[in-house]
Amino acid sequence: MPNPKDYAILFDASRCIGCKACQVACKQWNDLEAEKTKNRGSYANPPKLTAHTWITMRYYEGLKPEGDPYFDFIRGSCMHCTHAPCVSACPTGAMAHREGGVVTVDEKTCIGCRSCVQACPYEAVHFDEAKGVVHKCTMCYDRISHGDQPACVKACPADALTFGTYQEIRAMAEERVRALKERGYARANVYGLAELGGTHVLYVLTEHPSQYDLPKAVREAEKRAATGWLSAGIAAAVLGAGLKFIVERREALKGGGQ
Ligand code: SF4
Ligand code: SF4
Repeated sequence: MPNPKDYAILFDASRCIGCKACQVACKQWNDLEAEKTKNRGSYANPPKLTAHTWITMRYYEGLKPEGDPYFDFIRGSCMHCTHAPCVSACPTGAMAHREGGVVTVDEKTCIGCRSCVQACPYEAVHFDEAKGVVHKCTMCYDRISHGDQPACVKACPADALTFGTYQEIRAMAEERVRALKERGYARANVYGLAELGGTHVLYVLTEHPSQYDLPKAVREAEKRAATGWLSAGIAAAVLGAGLKFIVERREALKGGGQ
């Protein structure tokens, strides 16, 4: 479980209005380039996270078991896991936990092997072809380490995002679920308490997490870890076979002025 004093974000799906102000604020603060998007029949755009999109809102609609329609909005981004598979998979220590449990990548020591990309169950970390390194949400470490809020939290007009200590955020989430249950949301729950040692981003959901594709991805990651997919042997093999090529490629990219 995260340390009670760690940093944490609450995403409350019962308050989110799906406006994507958080997605835009993340782009602006982190100076992430725009991506060409197209209508694929969903408001989610781009449909998945990329090296240049660190938050993407996902949209789920259908019928509840009782027959009532639902249209829910779910945040997609790094969950800043306590037992982070990306950290375990990284052969150089570039992907690591910083102060407050935040997971970030050090671009100077990232060799672009993409072990973390394969390991992440939330598809939250991506390879930047131009720079030869990986990128993902940093929980705005440059802001929070100076006492400010993450840009996404500051931009949210619906109070669907809150930043605080893990202790505060967890208590807030559990209280919100109690209130929702009293209002008739029988399946309201907090997501992220048990997953991967507890995540530093917690979700308040009104429906079971399976409705939002959440637990399946984690189970698959845990299975991969249990079967040794992320073993040191594999990491060593990756290093032995590919390190020279990766380093040469990074140097070539630097030499090309990128
Ligand atoms: S969500 Fe993915 S990238 Fe983020 S800490 Fe967990 S495993 Fe790493
Ligand atoms: S800014 Fe707030 S309300 Fe808008 S999509 Fe993001 S979390 Fe939802």
